[in-house]
Amino acid sequence: MITYGEVEKLRSCCAPDASVLSLYLCVPSDQAELRELPARAASLIAAATADSPGELQPEDEQAACRAVAAHARDRLGDTLGIFVSGRLGLLEVVPLPGKFPERAVLGVRPHVRPLLAELQRRPDHRVVIIDHQHAWLLAVTADRVEVVARVPAEDAPSPGFGGWYLEPSHILQRVTASAGHLYQEAAAILDRQTVGGGAQPVVIGGYADSITHLLALLPRAVRDEYAGGFAADPHELTLAKARALAEPVIAHWAQRREDQLVQAVTAPAPGVATAIGLDDSLSAVNADGADLLLVDDRAVIPGFHCERCDVLSVSSDGCSDWGAAAWPVPDLLEEMTWRTLHGGGQVVSVRMLPCTVAARPR
Ligand SMILES: [Zn+2]
Repeated sequence: MITYGEVEKLRSCCAPDASVLSLYLCVPSDQAELRELPARAASLIAAATADSPGELQPEDEQAACRAVAAHARDRLGDTLGIFVSGRLGLLEVVPLPGKFPERAVLGVRPHVRPLLAELQRRPDHRVVIIDHQHAWLLAVTADRVEVVARVPAEDAPSPGFGGWYLEPSHILQRVTASAGHLYQEAAAILDRQTVGGGAQPVVIGGYADSITHLLALLPRAVRDEYAGGFAADPHELTLAKARALAEPVIAHWAQRREDQLVQAVTAPAPGVATAIGLDDSLSAVNADGADLLLVDDRAVIPGFHCERCDVLSVSSDGCSDWGAAAWPVPDLLEEMTWRTLHGGGQVVSVRMLPCTVAARPR
């Protein structure tokens, strides 16, 4: 579990040479197959170093292999992201749930596209739990879930909510707020958050009639963020259960959104210019940038970055400086991703894209 801020921090590590090792390794679900893992890690690392012999420090490779041995047993069926640079004092292990494409990358910075893909597929979100007497608004992030608002508001601040039972029944009996007012108040809280820049997908859990009632009152902007609902008896829920029930709803929402954005670029509306494939997408990113960039999860494309004119290219003489200031980069898609994000654009990692990369130019 990792946050966007942590990914950015990892990406900001920069070594003087291409010696930072990033290793993504799928841990088998079957414990008996664990013994094959060191050999697989070694062969991924060997493939990455074949192109740049001498850059990887032997002690960094050993540190990566020790990290695999230390963490694999607790992460059966998951993917380990391991980032090592003795020179930078960097040794970070990030477990990713499920399977990600395996790779080892050597560069001046950690290779983080798979981490961004994970954040895209499990975004921070809001969960509303509602019945006719109560509404709770939960904020769910990679590493925590907490109650951020409740209706009716409580007089006294609530104690810690870890593993907490949503509400004791005597509180429910005391409540006199009318149901109509309750739904309006819950809708208003969501609206204020959305307008205040807190736009995040929303999941609503409760009895079907409560979900329908609240949905009907949501302003358009909030409704656009509605990811889906789940049926539950609010008084049986804990924070952990609410989070678990919202998880598949959010996963579906993320997949739908991914599909829609792929559609927007690969089958654009009339009059919308799009770039399909590496050459056209590079041209778009090098020119005015992209407001939407799609990258295939599986692809890694080595290339060059010109220090003088900032152009990204497939060959070292791909700009007007004829390679005089071009440095190899292990993955053009990673560079295009960060350039797009820092330019205010959106990047979508796609599990299977018909081309390696596509863009909607600014
Ligand atoms: Zn140049």
